[in-house]
Amino acid sequence: PARPATAPRLRPDDVFIAVKTTRKNHGPRLGLLLRTWISRARRQTFIFTDGDDPELQLQGGGHVINTNCSAVHTRQALCCKMSVEYDKFIESGRKWFCHVDDDNYVNPKGLLQLLSTFSPSQDIYLGRPSLDHPIEATERIQGGGTVTTVKFWFATGGAGFCLSRGLALKMSPWASLGGFMSTAERVRLPDDCTVGYIVEGLLGARLLHSSLFHSHLENLQKLSPDTLLQQVTLSYGGPENPQNVVNVAGGFSLQQDPTRFKSIHCLLYPDTDWCPVQKQS
Ligand code: UDP
Ligand code: MN
Repeated sequence: PARPATAPRLRPDDVFIAVKTTRKNHGPRLGLLLRTWISRARRQTFIFTDGDDPELQLQGGGHVINTNCSAVHTRQALCCKMSVEYDKFIESGRKWFCHVDDDNYVNPKGLLQLLSTFSPSQDIYLGRPSLDHPIEATERIQGGGTVTTVKFWFATGGAGFCLSRGLALKMSPWASLGGFMSTAERVRLPDDCTVGYIVEGLLGARLLHSSLFHSHLENLQKLSPDTLLQQVTLSYGGPENPQNVVNVAGGFSLQQDPTRFKSIHCLLYPDTDWCPVQKQS
């Protein structure tokens, strides 16, 4: 849809990008992100972690938030982080909330271009569904002991997703100031499913399915090399699945750039000082 002539152009600072991380990933994962895409989106990016790290604090330039959530991979700990991400976004006054994991590459220009086709006052929930069908969950209503089932789509957190400010504000009765954690307990689902539950199950809004967001649940090798630079997020398989990376040629070998993020970054931003010098044609 065309942007109405009266709407102001979307600026990078209108977007709030929350990166979820954990203390033990600061070295192995965050360094790469800071050197690549975050370096081009510093004022938009906020890092949510669970432990103090003066070095990261320094590199993050005041955009590192210690959630004080526990550093374990449980539903409660992950929902605790999402809840803090949500509250910080609301407080920021920005137009768009986007969440990514610390194994995502974000293409800041692609993201801005995608979001600028919508209005932040509309109900927009954008991302890649985890499943090819809606999830069915059991809802426990407090006190009454009543159990009902709800069906809804949700965007997989590992591929990144975005919410418009308009929709995020409507979510506040179930999401703000710790409410997100009680809502997650009601359906006993992880953080990303809980977002879908609030948006679709409780508010009756819809997930806009986008194929521009990518997690390592997909076969990333199958992404067409011609379209890689148009994608909004990418990911990589990691040590358990090192061959699940995007197929990008460039100045870095698989050994030098096992995630392929440096190669992608140098194609998007060839003027970066550590990128191989481009061949003259
Ligand atoms: N994570 C976290 N706390 C933990 C473990 C993981 O906040 O105890 C974060 C991690 O930093 C990442 C996301 O959760 O942003 C997903 O973790 P990971 O990629 O290791 O696992 P996946 O679910 O993708 O297999
Ligand atoms: Mn992951």
